[in-house]
Amino acid sequence: MLSFGWLLRSADPPGKPLGRRCRGTPPRMASRRMANIRLTAVAMLVCVGLSAAVVVAALRLPAVIAVSAWGRQTAAASIGRLLAGSATFDGPLSGMLVAVDPGHGGPDRGACHLPSGLVEKEINLDMAFRLERALKANGAQVFLTRRDDSFLSLDERARRANERGADVFVSLHVNRYPSPECFGAQTFYLPESLEGRRLALLIQEELRNVYPPNYRQALPGNYRVLRGTAMPAALVEIGFVTNATDRALMQQDDYREAVAAAIVRGIVRFVQGETVAGALAEPGTGPPSGAAGSAPSGVAGEGWG
Ligand SMILES: [Zn+2]
Repeated sequence: MLSFGWLLRSADPPGKPLGRRCRGTPPRMASRRMANIRLTAVAMLVCVGLSAAVVVAALRLPAVIAVSAWGRQTAAASIGRLLAGSATFDGPLSGMLVAVDPGHGGPDRGACHLPSGLVEKEINLDMAFRLERALKANGAQVFLTRRDDSFLSLDERARRANERGADVFVSLHVNRYPSPECFGAQTFYLPESLEGRRLALLIQEELRNVYPPNYRQALPGNYRVLRGTAMPAALVEIGFVTNATDRALMQQDDYREAVAAAIVRGIVRFVQGETVAGALAEPGTGPPSGAAGSAPSGVAGEGWG
């Protein structure tokens, strides 16, 4: 580090003769000249410091502009975090706070297939950590409603997301249905939420790409955990525990990673303002579910009402 201590030192050590240098210059003038030099140097240092601050601010400006394109509500929250110094700027989800809600927990196990060792609350939490990593890799900040095997009410999950001011809410679940033929990941949204619907449709499109035989469409679902949220929200069922193929998929590390990546891609497209081509304009009607046995509510036995 450079030392500027010389600026503070006297040019003329006390008691030392000025010598030849001062032969033609009165001591007071020499002292004043040195004082002026020191003053000028200090002013230069201040200017350098200010210039550095301006450069830093300019580098951050494009990120602020990009954030503003995401919409008024998102921009306000993001700029708030920027000012708080907690935002990152290295991905398409920079400045976003995503609330991830691993469904069930504690004594509430959710849907299970014990012979396969599949327990919904465990799958949901594992998926939440995978999703957290993938979201952070895209620049997002992430908040999990639970990080361990604890029970949370549906209202508490939504309340925590609201309290944090999350921009997007994603609840993770595993489905079950009386018919073992039902398969495929599926996304739900609040019937009255246009933005929730746009988010769910984009996520669902990405989920279908993970496993092309999956014909399922995003559907409206008046679920309590979604009703309590103040931001665009979607509920993702990553597969049916009652279907053998889905069970095999959900036991694979690669499938879980692919599902997490698909959800992230859906959120990125949502943030970038995309809509699913050909999607119906009105919420609540929902696109056709695609095939017989597509679990009308998709949540038999879940008890989210
Ligand atoms: Zn569930």
